[in-house]
Amino acid sequence: MNLILLGPPGAGKGTQAKIIEQERGLVQLSTGDMLRAAVAAGTEIGKKAKAVMEAGELVSDDIVIGIISDRIDEPDVQGGFILDGFPRTVAQAEALDKLLAEKGKKLDLVIEMKVEDEPLIKRITGRFTCAKCGEGYHDEFKKPAVEGVCDKCGGTEFKRRADDNEETVRSRLEAYHAQTAPLVDYYAGKGILKSVDGMAPIDEVTNQIRAVLDSV
Ligand code: ADP
Ligand code: AMP
Repeated sequence: MNLILLGPPGAGKGTQAKIIEQERGLVQLSTGDMLRAAVAAGTEIGKKAKAVMEAGELVSDDIVIGIISDRIDEPDVQGGFILDGFPRTVAQAEALDKLLAEKGKKLDLVIEMKVEDEPLIKRITGRFTCAKCGEGYHDEFKKPAVEGVCDKCGGTEFKRRADDNEETVRSRLEAYHAQTAPLVDYYAGKGILKSVDGMAPIDEVTNQIRAVLDSV
């Protein structure tokens, strides 16, 4: 199964994608993670993306479409994928349709995570991840069971994203409403959109997503 988790920054896409990945054998494809890796590695793409990401704006469609197109060809993705953070513009969604058709694949489902803006600021400014395995945490909503130790891998170093500050989050939310929100209608029009309540606690959101996945 190939699906998209659609929602603004902080909606919980990464959190839920990692759970569904484990449970259903699908692969999470996060363009944000891929771009951050490119920035860290200092590649040409990373150099182009760095300042745009720091400003909370969108990287060019051509760059992200190219990254996703290459990634979808890799062997580990052939059993199905969960797109997280892509597409983010109608042009990206159209390009995705085209490239999937060319590769003989299709999108089965788009799950919209419905959330309100203001609580997202708190979610994003409290977000941190394990530096070793990437498991996601939150200062208040998802603390490690033992403080300072990753539940998943036992790692003791954690990191916070440079763009997870209030000012940049507001720019990212603006970009979401202006450029990404139209995708809700785009996919509703194709008859593959389902919605879940992203304001519910993490476990409840997971249960809603499981129910949607079982219904298709
Ligand atoms: P996204 O990938 O959509 O940007 P994340 O999955 O990284 O969002 O979630 C943002 C932050 O909010 C993380 O710190 C995560 O632990 C926390 N979080 C995710 N889902 C919920 C939820 N349903 N309720 C409260 N906090 C959540
Ligand atoms: P994310 O990890 O999804 O929150 O993305 C972090 C940042 O990476 C965004 O604010 C954008 O600058 C950039 N980015 C990630 N995915 C895309 C995309 N599909 N299109 C354009 N920019 C993206």
